[in-house]
Amino acid sequence: MPFKSIKDAISNIESKKISIRELNLEFIKKIKDNKNLNIFIYFDEKKIINQIDNLEKDNSNKKLKGIPLAIKDLFCTKDMPTTAGSKILENFNPTYESFVTQKLINDGAIFVGKTNLDEFAMGSATDTSYFGNTINPLSKKDNPLAPGGSSGGSAAAVAADLCLGATGTDTGGSIRQPASFCGVVGIKPTYGLCSRWGIAAFASSLDQAGVFTNNVEDSSILLETIAGFDQRDSTSSNVNIPNYFDNLNDDLSGMTVGIPKEYTIDGMPEEINLIWEESKKVLENKGVKIKNISLPHTKYALPTYYIIAPAEASSNLARYDGVKYGFRANGISSLDEMYEQTRGEGFGKEVKRRILIGTYVLSAGYYDAYYLKAQKVRKLIANDFKEAFKECDFIVTPTAPSAAFPLNEKKQDPIKMYLNDVFTVPASLAGLPGISIPFGKDKNNLPLGIQILGKHFDEQLVFNVALSLERSSE
Ligand code: GLN
Repeated sequence: MPFKSIKDAISNIESKKISIRELNLEFIKKIKDNKNLNIFIYFDEKKIINQIDNLEKDNSNKKLKGIPLAIKDLFCTKDMPTTAGSKILENFNPTYESFVTQKLINDGAIFVGKTNLDEFAMGSATDTSYFGNTINPLSKKDNPLAPGGSSGGSAAAVAADLCLGATGTDTGGSIRQPASFCGVVGIKPTYGLCSRWGIAAFASSLDQAGVFTNNVEDSSILLETIAGFDQRDSTSSNVNIPNYFDNLNDDLSGMTVGIPKEYTIDGMPEEINLIWEESKKVLENKGVKIKNISLPHTKYALPTYYIIAPAEASSNLARYDGVKYGFRANGISSLDEMYEQTRGEGFGKEVKRRILIGTYVLSAGYYDAYYLKAQKVRKLIANDFKEAFKECDFIVTPTAPSAAFPLNEKKQDPIKMYLNDVFTVPASLAGLPGISIPFGKDKNNLPLGIQILGKHFDEQLVFNVALSLERSSE
């Protein structure tokens, strides 16, 4: 690839060292050479050429002009189908563009395709998609690894150099965990920073859009584009969006980092503790004070998440009934049968499991015991962070309790799969921004991620810390 970074590609296009066409043709070729990884649900070379043709005629200055990006197939796109990784949306062609993708188009980005994901973003391995598994590009031939999930296609696309950046969504870790598994940078911003308009909803009180890139600078460039207030999403925040890239600064002297004692679990590979220690050392050398903190309700985060997320999913997915969108089952004799057959055939196993759990915890008689209780615990988890941030400026933890695991290792055991989200869900429940950056390797030479969490809307500091750690490992 001519460039690994958006920043370099932008300056080389501007100085005419490479044309938009030349750059994108390289990526098209690479995508075609890597079809075996099953990273894209939708890829159409002609569509890319069309976008190049249009940009070549366009004389205006656009920040991301000609930059090849991949889009998680959960974002509605007008010119490309949107499936959410589900049979139920197999032939769905949205009539509108999501807020995030529209912003990227406005800035001149090229969409190379729509990436594979867990069905409706439910999963941690990109193995629940109707369109098959994605394979982690870092796998050895005889041992295919999961790219993480649910945005595994997007993380893999960046890791395999099939684009320079990609969009993702993170409800309980779906950007940070695949970023860690694929060795790329992934940011989930504060809940409300990016509008959810036009993103197929999974759990609306948790869903957030974000981006994958090869480095922290690029992450700040892309986030700047996709952030912003939007009236069509009532949870979108009307805050000032800083110029993240221009304000990048790796001077952290005088800051305090919080190290939560709860972020370690039995059976975690030793290398994860080592990279965590290493990150502390690097920060200490940069003049950062280390503060051991406690987030006492962390142990309840997984059960809380796996009540709230399915509850919201069961409600959000009620709209897929064979009437309004996509797939409808054949050979039906009544309306009830049409609903049942369509949903029975259209949804995969994991989605059905979530709908059943969600319906159960919301049903009369169980609502107070499960859903309401989970909401109360969610508040306690958020309060833990609030208290912690009185003593520190940001928090550093491992991103996940393992490196990329072999495909199918956890597929038969949903609880094992859910456990992999243990370090990402607390920040999701609290709505906090978090980034995962590659930071060291395990004994099999697979990348491991470090997670940096910040206060609400403190993405700038999250980027600054990430940059500082990134520079130390270069
Ligand atoms: N792995 C988590 C789940 O399956 C998170 C998914 C996500 O963030 N979209 O719910």
